[in-house]
Amino acid sequence: MKIHFSTLLLLFVMMSISQTSCSKNKTNMKLNKLTPQEAAVIINKGTEYPNTGEYVSTKDSGAYVCRQCDAPLYHSADKFDSHCGWPSFDDEIKGAVKRIPDADGMRTEIVCANCGGHLGHVFMGEGYTEKNIRHCVNSISMKFIPSNSIKMEKAYFASGCFWGTEYHFMKKAGVTATTVGYMGGYTDGPTYKEVCSGTTGHIETTEVVFDPSKVSFEDLVKLYYETHDFEQVGGQGPDIGQQYQSVVFYVTNEQKLIVEKYMNILQEKGYKPATLLKPAPEFWAAEDYHQEYYDKKNGNPYCHVYRKLF
Ligand SMILES: [Zn+2]
Repeated sequence: MKIHFSTLLLLFVMMSISQTSCSKNKTNMKLNKLTPQEAAVIINKGTEYPNTGEYVSTKDSGAYVCRQCDAPLYHSADKFDSHCGWPSFDDEIKGAVKRIPDADGMRTEIVCANCGGHLGHVFMGEGYTEKNIRHCVNSISMKFIPSNSIKMEKAYFASGCFWGTEYHFMKKAGVTATTVGYMGGYTDGPTYKEVCSGTTGHIETTEVVFDPSKVSFEDLVKLYYETHDFEQVGGQGPDIGQQYQSVVFYVTNEQKLIVEKYMNILQEKGYKPATLLKPAPEFWAAEDYHQEYYDKKNGNPYCHVYRKLF
């Protein structure tokens, strides 16, 4: 079916308007400006011609993110060659893709779960791979981010005894390393004994190194609030003292704004978050025996129990 260009343009304008009003409901989502070619597929649900897309046969290691909102969609490890003319994946990044039955009742459309941008269709039972699923995705709906260009980011969370804080973060997908240590005191290279004496002003903190293409700082903040009593002042659970205070040491102003956003959300829910927000000073790694404590001891944290809040 041929659609007149002016009809297409009108449709695009209409969809853009409805999308703008819709995206206002989403929290501060920043959308990339699309070219008319990108919009024809991403907004107007068009399909690029087979074997013309940029990523039909790419095999490099990395992540495919949404062209419109940059949300990670697929890992290169799940890409396979289907010879169908479009990039094919047999799995998506958890929660990244939404399925919508087509009006014809035959096919299932896939859209970016974050911004609703059209990706393509998903097919089952074709026998291409063991998972027996084919996400048939338009190249133009995605952007490829090679692994070697993915820069790791750092975040610093204090939520009481650092054994328990680290326990939850080291298990989070997208987190590549965690280290427990001390931050915010008056002395350099403090020992655990010195920190426990309460005279150095340090806070037990977990340094979290993460791959922002796999997990967002926002998701880490959610996990942070879901694994400690952020209303408690001057300690955490049975651990009383300044070193156990709920603190986020932010690395960038963006991190600060995200934590503030979640503190507001919690206040709206009726909580009184007592988290202190401070710019990140030097981080001092703690003694080896504190690192990955609960995994070494095969135990569970006594005061850091997960509860869903968001
Ligand atoms: Zn998107």
